[in-house]
Amino acid sequence: MQPRDLSMHEPYVPGRGTKEVARELDVDPDSLIKLSSNENPHGPSPAAVDAITDTAETVNTYPKSSHTDLTARVADHWGLSPEQIWVSPGADGAIDYLSRAFLTPDDTMLISEPGFSYYPMSARYHHGNINTYPISKAQDFQQRASDILAQYNDERLLYVTTPHNPSGSELPISEITTLAEGVNDHTLVVIDEAYGEYSDNPSAIELIEEHDNIAVLRTFSKAYGLAGLRIGYAAVPESWADAYARINTPFAANKTGCQAALAAIDDQSHVEHSIETARWSREYYRKELDVRTWPSGGNFVLCEVGDGAAVAEAAKQEGVIIRDTTSFGLPECVRVSSGTRKQTKAAVDVLSEVIADIETTTAAESGVETEVGRP
Ligand SMILES: *Cc1c(COP(=O)(O)O)cnc(C)c1O
Repeated sequence: MQPRDLSMHEPYVPGRGTKEVARELDVDPDSLIKLSSNENPHGPSPAAVDAITDTAETVNTYPKSSHTDLTARVADHWGLSPEQIWVSPGADGAIDYLSRAFLTPDDTMLISEPGFSYYPMSARYHHGNINTYPISKAQDFQQRASDILAQYNDERLLYVTTPHNPSGSELPISEITTLAEGVNDHTLVVIDEAYGEYSDNPSAIELIEEHDNIAVLRTFSKAYGLAGLRIGYAAVPESWADAYARINTPFAANKTGCQAALAAIDDQSHVEHSIETARWSREYYRKELDVRTWPSGGNFVLCEVGDGAAVAEAAKQEGVIIRDTTSFGLPECVRVSSGTRKQTKAAVDVLSEVIADIETTTAAESGVETEVGRP
């Protein structure tokens, strides 16, 4: 017995977890600073924690009204109708819902390289193919509609990540309009705004009313601090919003998650505080780390450190877990998530030391003298 040919399906590589690393290093998990998965370092809103506790005693029933209530609340937040909010198990779930709704076998999805690995995974689950457009380091990861359209070849789904993971670059809203107007009628442009809250740019959700070929992904995993509960959604145009009823997995967005998300969206002060810290932190990394970095609209910064794997490993030994971006095709970089002020300062101290050490060692081994800390 064998499953179908899965050789094209690459397993998802998550950032390392605190417990996992604590066990490996044989240290207390609380002594570690985890900056590898772009999570909210302040934790969830206290109101969400209360909602989680309160929901515990009623998880024997299916999440019908919780789902309806969350959908209505999110729709209200954006000024859309409830049908236009496709609540899903994480934004990853919404990626699958769009694949289900749009892809027929051998349809193609156009995605960025480097990019978020779940897009191609979802395409392949749905018997689709992948084309890519570059977001290149040589051009500072700049995103432009004309560059994307130059690579566009009538694909069924076109994904844009803004702010982009792992580079932090953004596609301004005027460029998103150009993109939506530049593709053929049957192409859906999906704007992944998993990090939208941290950006200064407005959400592409405002374009949905005018353009029925734009869908926008949002999540409660990042700024709302609920990654462990797996709640996200797609905001979609009214004209085809009713497809949701035919493609969603019944009750896939769990009750505890829906209730926590409802509480979290009503605690905007927690979100605002989280955004403020993240913006401070990303600027602090850029200013204090003596390596090449790029402007980021998200809660993370991409840093060019030479040997990303070696730097991530050495930082881990010092208790700071960061993401080596080899799996994104950027082995010379690491991605560091925004932390609290204290965590950010500690991370800068550790990273500066580790990067200098590795440069000195590499220089000594190659017999070349380099200035310590030089990019
Ligand atoms: C984190 C992330 C998501 C979604 O995460 P969920 O936890 O599934 O909501 C989507 N896209 C990008 C680019 C991300 O980094």
